[in-house]
Amino acid sequence: MNKRESYKLASRDNSKKQTKIKINDVIIGGEKFVIMAGPCSVESREQIQRLAKLLGKINIKIIRGGAFKPRTSPYSFQGLEGDGLKYLREAADKYNLLVVSEIMDSKYIDLFLEYVDIIQVGARNMQNFSLLKELSKIKKPILLKRGMGATIEELLSAAEYILQGGNWQVILCERGIRTFETSTRFTLDISAIPVLKKLTHLPVIIDPSHAAGNRDIIPALSKAAFVAGADGLLIEVHDDPKNALSDGAQALLPRELNNLIKDLKNISAVIKRPL
Ligand code: PEP
Ligand code: MN
Repeated sequence: MNKRESYKLASRDNSKKQTKIKINDVIIGGEKFVIMAGPCSVESREQIQRLAKLLGKINIKIIRGGAFKPRTSPYSFQGLEGDGLKYLREAADKYNLLVVSEIMDSKYIDLFLEYVDIIQVGARNMQNFSLLKELSKIKKPILLKRGMGATIEELLSAAEYILQGGNWQVILCERGIRTFETSTRFTLDISAIPVLKKLTHLPVIIDPSHAAGNRDIIPALSKAAFVAGADGLLIEVHDDPKNALSDGAQALLPRELNNLIKDLKNISAVIKRPL
């Protein structure tokens, strides 16, 4: 099978029109650049309430937070599971936010349909084809992350599984790939943005947090993503990163996120893409 055939629905050849995913008053893949932010993990009701309040204040519309966590070690915090999703929904509703959260097992689809607005498939599950097939049957946007060892063609072919079953609402996310470089957690593939924009009509967002592994370089990667033509960002933020239960080193502090947004607004005027 040639490349284009393995992802014919995701291909630009199939649709000249850019896919726009509309959820309430937010459009992903439209003119506006969309920022999704929140902690790596939902840690408690209080933590997610505090962060949702902070995000609402800086006009962010989508909160992220993991309730089912794919941790490298089984001894690491695994997430609050169903309770985590409930806390996330409660906080989001209070501050008028949408929710994105990661699913790891198709047996929880009903739970996610109830509590979540965008279902994330993590890098480690990008080629979990039975999960992708189940997600193809539902009518909820899916945020599909690129596997750390996956090519762009493999990412598009994974997206194809979701489209082929009838769910056309797929957002692609580049989050860093594994290379020989050790100074960052993963290597953010900035080239993936213009390459994906050429190959597919699906929205493309960037997760600079998991690529960087360290908060210092996240603003630079985020600005690069904006200028390179991404449709949005997925960023980890925490108000007490030292005590975070996962990924504290790569969480921006709320004021750092605020500063980043100010920088993006300045860039927005130059590249003529609204935030
Ligand atoms: C996450 O977003 O919390 C996550 C686990 O990301 P990834 O699948 O990209 O590692
Ligand atoms: Mn994380």
